[in-house]
Amino acid sequence: MPEADPTADIQIELHSDDAEPEAEQRPDPADRDELSVITIGAPAADPRPFVHFGCLKQALAHARSDTETEVGGVLVGESYPSERGLVIELTAALPAATEEAGLGYVTFSHQAWTEIYRQLDAMGTDLRILGWYHSHPGFGIFLSHQDRFIHNNFFAAPESVALVVDPLFERVGLFGWREGELVSLGGVRILADEACFAAAGEMAEKLSYDVADEEEGMASLRERLAQVGQAVRRILKGQ
Ligand SMILES: [Zn+2]
Repeated sequence: MPEADPTADIQIELHSDDAEPEAEQRPDPADRDELSVITIGAPAADPRPFVHFGCLKQALAHARSDTETEVGGVLVGESYPSERGLVIELTAALPAATEEAGLGYVTFSHQAWTEIYRQLDAMGTDLRILGWYHSHPGFGIFLSHQDRFIHNNFFAAPESVALVVDPLFERVGLFGWREGELVSLGGVRILADEACFAAAGEMAEKLSYDVADEEEGMASLRERLAQVGQAVRRILKGQ
């Protein structure tokens, strides 16, 4: 399979929050009157990730825009303690230019990071980068060796998460840090206000939280690559 050189773009430095004061406790999103929580799977109790409907919709739309290759971007939002645990509230998905992506990998180029920071500045908010998302078109939900490399290097903060979506099979998975281990967070909590409650329900009904282990995932990726190879050979032969 095509392996991107994982070290090609690691000299990018994320904005560091070295002197950040201890965040103040805030109401948990599940206790906020104006929001409803719709769950897919069985989301973790701690950390407590929440994805706003608009954010998940953006990531899914991006993934569905190209079902031939992996596409991705960053997830921005806020993280703070609530009475119930460490909240990771994802507000928006910003697509990265993935000219380097192929089937089986996605990378963040220097240019992609520059563009992401430009978009973040333009939004003029206090939202921070809290993770990333990318697609696995047709080969299921898992973190490949390369994905783990990216997470370890760019998203090492304890509140950093990785959202993986399979736009062909309508599957999602969310991964994050627990006791220093990068693990599946068991499910996704979608946050919806009244205006998007119905749409969020429909979205949740279509999606399944279905995480495969890496070996299983790599096997279906190889199968998909073989299918693509066959299709390419047929095209080349003019059939
Ligand atoms: Zn991946």
